[in-house]
Amino acid sequence: MSTSHDVDVVVVGSGPVGTAVARELADTGSGLRVLVLEAGQALGDPAGGHVKNIADVEARDAALAALATGPGPLPGGTPARPGTALVGAPDMPNAAISTNVGGMGAHWTAACPRPVDDEVPDCVDPDVLDEALTRAEALLAVTTHAFDRAPLTGAVQRVLGELFDRPHRRPVGAMPVAVTVGEDGSLHWTGPAIIAGDLWERPGVELRTGTLARRVLLDGDRVTGVEAVDLASGERYTIPARAVVVAADAFRTPQLLWASGIRPQALGRYLTEHPQVMAASLLDERYVPADAPVDADLPVTAAAAPGGGAIVPVSGVSWVPYAADRPFHGQVMQMDASPVPLDPGLTVRRGQVVGLGWFCRKELSPDNRVRFDEGDLDPHGLPAIRIDYALSDADRASVAAAVEEVASAARALGRPLGEPFVMPPGSSLHYLGTTRMGRTDDGTSVCDPTGRVWGTANLYVGGNNVIPTATACNPTLTAVAFGVLTARAVAAQLAAQPAAQPAAQPATTPVAEE
Ligand code: FAD
Repeated sequence: MSTSHDVDVVVVGSGPVGTAVARELADTGSGLRVLVLEAGQALGDPAGGHVKNIADVEARDAALAALATGPGPLPGGTPARPGTALVGAPDMPNAAISTNVGGMGAHWTAACPRPVDDEVPDCVDPDVLDEALTRAEALLAVTTHAFDRAPLTGAVQRVLGELFDRPHRRPVGAMPVAVTVGEDGSLHWTGPAIIAGDLWERPGVELRTGTLARRVLLDGDRVTGVEAVDLASGERYTIPARAVVVAADAFRTPQLLWASGIRPQALGRYLTEHPQVMAASLLDERYVPADAPVDADLPVTAAAAPGGGAIVPVSGVSWVPYAADRPFHGQVMQMDASPVPLDPGLTVRRGQVVGLGWFCRKELSPDNRVRFDEGDLDPHGLPAIRIDYALSDADRASVAAAVEEVASAARALGRPLGEPFVMPPGSSLHYLGTTRMGRTDDGTSVCDPTGRVWGTANLYVGGNNVIPTATACNPTLTAVAFGVLTARAVAAQLAAQPAAQPAAQPATTPVAEE
């Protein structure tokens, strides 16, 4: 039996959102005892650091390989993008999850645009959301200057600006990214480790890895704690807590609620993502200054690139922002490898190969959903994740418009390297809506604007899954901002309800096998 001290708040999941909730609780609440449960293991030091920051490629590959054999819950178990495993859903074949300290935030691309126009949920005061987004940007160290030294970025943004800039729209510019720049110019991807800072060393705060939350425990409308399992030993025990925040991604947050018998009508529904269109282009010579450095070592294909095509300081990440009358936004990356073989003898300058990725807004529908069935269990005894998902006619029209737009951008930039292509559903790795927030408990939302689950006094949810709007915007910054607001709500609630005297029972109690 484990012997941890009493806990005020259990947070489930150590991705960017769970870590931000824990950090804000520790910063805001006076002396709150916070326990973060994470099913996966740390992939390096610091815990929750971005895998691409591990300079030693062999060590990085070993950390990623360990994911395949670790004890985490890997539905389907099939590895996908590095650090992710496929859920195994025919309707959304590329739907994936990460099970490690830092969640997907140990693997992400760190693009952090703010939502605008109809992307902004109307159930949160705009000034409150604005301040929370600013706090999220500070936690993630978001900047638009990480790629200032990229040699050809100015030319890329000039061409795209001429094509797409319109009055009253945000102009083409540098993508805000969660990246820090070392004194030597080296780039470091931020994420959960940067959000945490010294959090895991603070008194009263604990990150417990290799530990799966199996149930949230309720007494009437009040959460009393969490039933957890140590995945290495199989030991099950309960952890009493005064509040619980589940930030376990858009598939496993509704999974844990459903497993706990918490099943609001909208649970799992309104699942959405960002249909993705990709292309590549070789920047035309007329945009390339004659003294731009030749990249003699440019690998012929991305597959041959050392480190799997990691972004380097010469890369540049440009952005064609979203607007309500243009249902997508574009992320344009200058690459350190070509996605297709280039002509032999071709002279290529640094940053001259440009990858274009457009994310589309998708209509919301309650029929797109993650669902669970009694008796259909995964190997951990949690309900198996099943997905119903389809594009509407309007979605297909916006994807077709994005294909046109990407093609025109690739042509304007230079020589398109092949045709634009539409990625299979799930490719964006941005999954939203499955525990969406709402102003009232009208059956179309799962939680209120603070993340509190309707019908409960002290159970909260966080993650991209709380975002209620149809967006094109990469979701993590917004989800972290909502996590900040959730943490403040929990801290205020607990401050108003002083802790009872130390429980007579131990803080962790073994659970008999079912
Ligand atoms: P996650 O990061 O998914 O973390 C959830 C955690 O919960 C996991 O660690 C999991 O192990 C844990 N967990 C789940 N169930 C349980 C349980 N029952 N008990 C205990 N622990 C549990 N987003 C952007 O905004 N911009 C980008 O540029 C971007 N690029 C991306 C590129 C890649 C390659 C990937 C993989 C993702 C990208 N994303 C991007 C998505 C981004 O990483 C996610 O939006 C973000 O990580 C979500 O944070 P989260 O904390 O809600 O969930």
